[in-house]
Amino acid sequence: MTASADDDTAGLPRAPEVVQIEVGLLQNFCEILYCPDTHAAAIVDPAWEVDTLLREVLRLGLKVELALITHTHNDHIEGVDELVAKTRATVVVNPREARAVSAPGRALTDAIDGRDIAIGGRGVRALETRGHTVGGTCYLADGYVVTGDVLFVGGCGRTDFQGGDTAAMWQSLQRLMRLPEETRVYPGHNYGETATSTIGHETRTNPYLRCATFEEFRALRERKRKA
Ligand SMILES: [Zn+2]
Repeated sequence: MTASADDDTAGLPRAPEVVQIEVGLLQNFCEILYCPDTHAAAIVDPAWEVDTLLREVLRLGLKVELALITHTHNDHIEGVDELVAKTRATVVVNPREARAVSAPGRALTDAIDGRDIAIGGRGVRALETRGHTVGGTCYLADGYVVTGDVLFVGGCGRTDFQGGDTAAMWQSLQRLMRLPEETRVYPGHNYGETATSTIGHETRTNPYLRCATFEEFRALRERKRKA
């Protein structure tokens, strides 16, 4: 581990509450992040079962204000149109991938690296984590991080799709490893032995994070064309 000169956690807002929901046939995870005081909510990567997500929103008495996009592969954004139509949520997305979720009259907010995004009285911070895609974004809260298809429990995202970049993925994973080890990881798919993990557990057990060098990482990533 390198020293955290660039401390991504400095001055983080209070963390939203988080509910993880598995949807669809590709073991996608969506999260509902919400402020228990104002009842404002954000949905991460709305897809496949927007009705299921909105049922949970209703049960918790929340109002969806934001859709947070980790990246714009179809299995993560397939439900954006339906969610926006039903809630008028603002879509938060990295500018490099905004085209995929733009629509006339739709409100977009840039997920720029380091920007804090308010969810009621709570908030998360956008971390640009390229490698799986050109504008991949993790959302960091005080105590957890939503990692999309960058970091999975026991794995990491593929880099051989369009816009993929193995060197950028390595850098992104190194950055995530500098987070406090108790930081809980909420991945974009249920591919691991458990639904969530921690940065510390992944650092110790995830073969991609255990690579000592970029060359080792690249060789492993190329051997395992999966996820
Ligand atoms: Zn993906």
